[in-house]
Amino acid sequence: MFDPIAIRSQFPILSTKVHGKPLIYLDNAATTQKPLCVLNASRQYYELMNANIHRGAHYLSQLATEAHEQARVTVSEFIGANRPEELLFTSGCTMSINLVASILGLSGQIGKGDEIIISTTEHHSNIVPWQMLCERTGASLKIIPLANNLTWDMIAYEQLLSRKTKIVSVGHISNALGILNPVEKVASLAKHNNPATFVLIDGAQAISHHLIDVKAIGCDFYAFSGHKTYAPTGIGALWGKYDILDSLPPWLGGGEMIREVSFEKTTYNKLPFKYEAGTPNIEGAIALAEALRFVEKTDLPNIISHEERLTQQALEGLKQIPGIRILGPDSPRGAVISILINGVHHYDLGTILDQMGIAVRTGHHCCQPLMNSLGTTGTTRISFALYNTSEEVDIMLTSMNRAISMLS
Ligand code: PMP
Repeated sequence: MFDPIAIRSQFPILSTKVHGKPLIYLDNAATTQKPLCVLNASRQYYELMNANIHRGAHYLSQLATEAHEQARVTVSEFIGANRPEELLFTSGCTMSINLVASILGLSGQIGKGDEIIISTTEHHSNIVPWQMLCERTGASLKIIPLANNLTWDMIAYEQLLSRKTKIVSVGHISNALGILNPVEKVASLAKHNNPATFVLIDGAQAISHHLIDVKAIGCDFYAFSGHKTYAPTGIGALWGKYDILDSLPPWLGGGEMIREVSFEKTTYNKLPFKYEAGTPNIEGAIALAEALRFVEKTDLPNIISHEERLTQQALEGLKQIPGIRILGPDSPRGAVISILINGVHHYDLGTILDQMGIAVRTGHHCCQPLMNSLGTTGTTRISFALYNTSEEVDIMLTSMNRAISMLS
C-alpha cells in the first residue's frame, strides 16, 4: 500500500514549522526534499569510504571507485540505458545540455545555415546553450509554436523539420506549465525527416514523476538533475547513445579524461571517462543512486498514480475558485500546475501563501520567452512529490481562496 504518511516520516525537513504553521511544500519542481536514506548515503560516504576514485591502489580508493561505478549502473538502469558507459555524471541538467551543445559544436557537424529546433516552453537551460552554439556556428534556432491549449503545435513542428535540421532539443515535462509533451512523436518525426538529426530530451521534470525509457523515447541524449529526484544538488546525468558519444570529441580537458599525455600529444580515455574530467562529485553520484533506489522501492508506478490523484484533486479545486486560469489541459501532465489569477500579482500571492506555511513558486520559472508569449511576467506554480497528501491539497485550496480574496 502506498502510504504518504509513512513516507513523510523519512523526510525530516517536512516537520518544519513556517511562520508557526506546518510546512506544506509544493515547490517540488524547483527542488525536492531528501529522505533519510539519501542523507545517510552522503554521510556514510564521507564516514566510511572518502577517497579519490580510479587512481588509487589503496583500500578506500577501491571502495569509493566501486560505489561510484555501481551508482552509474543504478542510474543507467533506472532510465533504461543499454550500458552504464552511456551514462555520464554531470553537475546537473544545465551542465548536461551545455555538454551536448559544446561537443556537437566542437565536432564541426553544425554550421552556417543549419537549424536547431526547440519549443516555446523550454527552460532557459534548453535555450541559451543552443543560442550560444548558433552564435558560434552561424546556425539558427527554430521554435515550435503553441496551439491554443498551450500544447505544442505538432503540425507546425513537422513543417519546421527540413534537411537543414541538425538538432531537436525539447523538454519531457514543462516546468512552467506541467504539460507532458509527446517526446516520442517528436523524436520519431525528427528521425523520419533525417536519421542523422540529434534529438535531446530535457528530462529535469520527468525523472521520478514519469516512467522513463530512453530507448523507447527514441532520443539520442537524455538530461536530468539529481536534486529534482530526492538527491543532493550538484549532481546530475547525461545519457547518450554509445556510438554517438564515442564518436564526438572531448569537452573539458584534465585528469581522468585522458589515456596518455605528453607535451606533444594527448590521447583520450574511453567512455564514460572521456567526458568526466577532474575529480567528480563522488558522494553526489552515490546519493543519486540511493535516491533512485528509494524511488524504486517506494514503487514508481504507485508514486505516479499518487501524484496524478493529487494533481487532479488540485485542478478540480482550483477550477472552483473564481478568477483563476489554469494553464494547459488537465492531462496529459506531470505533477505541476501553473495558474494566473485576474488582478492578483503572482508574487503577492506567493508571499501570502508563505505566511500560511505553503511553499509555491512564483515568477517566470526560467521560461521568459514562454511568459512573453503568454503576455505575463510570471505565474504561480504548484508542484507535487511523493510525500504530498490529499489533506495538504485541501489546505492549499482553502488558503488559496483566502489569499485571493485578501488580494482582490
Ligand atoms: N530544465 C527544466 C525543465 C528544469 O525544470 C530545470 C530546473 N528548473 C532545468 C532544466 C535546469 O536544471 P538545473 O538547474 O538543476 O541544472
